[in-house]
Amino acid sequence: AEEVGGGDKEVVREYFNNSGFQRWRKIYGETDEVNRVQKDIRLGHSQTVENVLKMLKDEGSLEGVSVCDAGCGTGCLAIPLAKEGAAVYASDISAAMVAEAEKQGSECSGEFLLDNIMVLLMVRTVAGVASAIMVVALLHAELKRFLLESLWSIWVNFESSLSKPAMAGRETLVTCTYTCTVMAKEQLQAGSEKEVVMPKFEVKDLESLNGKYDTVVCLDVLIHYPQSKADGMIAHLASLAENRLLLSFAPKTFYYDLLKRVGELFPGPSKATRAYLHAEADVERALKKVGWKIRKRGLITTQFYFARLIEAIPA
Ligand code: SAM
Repeated sequence: AEEVGGGDKEVVREYFNNSGFQRWRKIYGETDEVNRVQKDIRLGHSQTVENVLKMLKDEGSLEGVSVCDAGCGTGCLAIPLAKEGAAVYASDISAAMVAEAEKQGSECSGEFLLDNIMVLLMVRTVAGVASAIMVVALLHAELKRFLLESLWSIWVNFESSLSKPAMAGRETLVTCTYTCTVMAKEQLQAGSEKEVVMPKFEVKDLESLNGKYDTVVCLDVLIHYPQSKADGMIAHLASLAENRLLLSFAPKTFYYDLLKRVGELFPGPSKATRAYLHAEADVERALKKVGWKIRKRGLITTQFYFARLIEAIPA
């Protein structure tokens, strides 16, 4: 019942809204409820995501760069891209996958908010303690002298190591407090400026996407379609991209083809979808037809996961 046949889009949609959703949510998640094969696929896929992030960041900061993640699944790539500052639009044919991605995205922005609150609390606490010490020090002559003298000696030692003239005790205390406050304020500002804007998620098949993006990424989606359909998908994705297009697919080599055929002889719980392998030359040809060429290539393999990752640019 889990077999996806014919590369039919409706069948793929149905699969990823039901049994496929249950299976892939586990694989792309972090829980222990995965078997050995699924754990291995999780590892391979996470390496693909890391490779993509590296490929993209190698060309410069992602701050403000518009990225379209077509067939985003549960947001494994879209969310880290948003954390890098990219303006991410992410869509998927499956409403269930998109709902999960949105859930994970909102959990992440919650975490970030908490981080900010923690920084704020820390700054307030430090500032509060410093002010209390100042007040006590100013009111209590003995403590004041003790604090001024200890700070004074620290400062003198520090200053003499830098061979700069030393400051008076009171001035030192004021300067130290001031510097701490300024540093805390800067840190807080940096934190709030870095606020992550989560991806905009939408339920949409990639064939009906429009608009223009600096970068378009489509990971592990072509595996669900035969080359005859993949050609059109690649052409459409390229038409959405201004500068680069990153694709991953299961490479059709003699070895993997054989492996797949042997695997098909043993239907079991680990074999959940019908997978199509794609020859790299065919993908290259599809890109060439629309005026694109491959700039970078990567290969990610674990025991049960294998993906060719390519970055294409206008020729
Ligand atoms: N790209 C994601 C990742 O790497 O984490 C998910 C990969 S998952 C194996 C394949 C995803 O492609 C599923 O979420 C599925 O719903 C989606 N998908 C399949 N056909 C699609 C299409 N024609 N348009 C958009 N999404 C599609």
